Amino acid sequence: MSYVISEFLGDGIGSELSHCVHTIMQELPVEVEFKQVDLSLENRKREGKKLYDQAAEYINQTKFAVKYPTTTKSVSPNAILRKLCKFSVIHRPVVSIPGVKSNFTKSIDVDIVRIATGGTYEDPGRLIGNDSAVSIRIVERKPCEEASRFAFKLAQSKKKALTSASKYTIQSVTDGLFQDVIDAMSKEFPDVTHRKELFDALLAKIIIKPEDFGIIVVLNEYGDFLSDMTCGLVGSLGIGGSGNYSFNQDGSIRVAMFDPAGGTAPDIAGKNICNPTAIIFAVSLLFEAMGEVMLGAHLRESTLNILVNGESTPDLGGNCTTQEFTTKVIGECLKRLET
Ligand code: ATP
Repeated sequence: MSYVISEFLGDGIGSELSHCVHTIMQELPVEVEFKQVDLSLENRKREGKKLYDQAAEYINQTKFAVKYPTTTKSVSPNAILRKLCKFSVIHRPVVSIPGVKSNFTKSIDVDIVRIATGGTYEDPGRLIGNDSAVSIRIVERKPCEEASRFAFKLAQSKKKALTSASKYTIQSVTDGLFQDVIDAMSKEFPDVTHRKELFDALLAKIIIKPEDFGIIVVLNEYGDFLSDMTCGLVGSLGIGGSGNYSFNQDGSIRVAMFDPAGGTAPDIAGKNICNPTAIIFAVSLLFEAMGEVMLGAHLRESTLNILVNGESTPDLGGNCTTQEFTTKVIGECLKRLET
């Protein structure tokens, strides 16, 4: 099959990550053409708002995009793209990475599905007099439905249980609405085991017995906290990929953008030593969304396999360059595809 995808270029190590993605697309059995938008800081300063409009136009045409880290100066390109593209769900797999040192001795493999809008994050609040402040917390049915449908489908395809978590006993109206939506959705997926947890208890349970958790769906702030906690447990905030989704009325994916979790790493940019694991994981999610499910799974497994064998970039103690590591992953992936 041949595909056209959008590619949003960034800053720092972005060009090396882009090179890695192009190499993967050239070497693996998939034909991909790119429609590029340069979202580097320099170009954003020069071109302004029209760049974002072009990015939104391209992603509407191609359905899928890959984005590299961008420098945030006063405005966050990610926040602008989220609004323009109406991303309502963020999918963030977090997995223990061989070779990444962690204080946590157990192994984690969870998929966090986070509602990307609302909660308290859209209202900075206001003062009441000098000594009090309030903010409004918004929970809307539509993104809850989109996130829960996505999460149930993911649980179904991965044959894993789904946990939904919130503080529904205390925030009974807002979190209650979220839980009601999940309960209703669970009737459409009778083959998926669904468990409900209080969010604070969930944090403790993940630490005590991470193997009990597969797919977890949560509201915006909880997802933010949970992503960082689980990344902390696996020892890295930067080695993960994520997918940002917007949906059609019928619940199918309208557009999706895939990016690495880490930043622009200006200190190592241009040295061919940055770790491409996160962008490779993001590409694996892209493949799965495109329908190239086996290819996505093989790419992810191959990356983990190379890391298990102790081969890595210098940040993980290895001596591979970015390109060498990418080549090894591709070689492993091609081997797996042949068997
Ligand atoms: P930004 O402003 O974009 O967040 P930053 O340098 O403040 O950039 P990160 O990009 O997250 O934040 O970098 C934090 C540290 O982690 C840096 O020392 C960087 O070199 C390292 N780092 C980040 N990403 C990678 C990567 N892909 N490979 C190797 N090291 C990385």
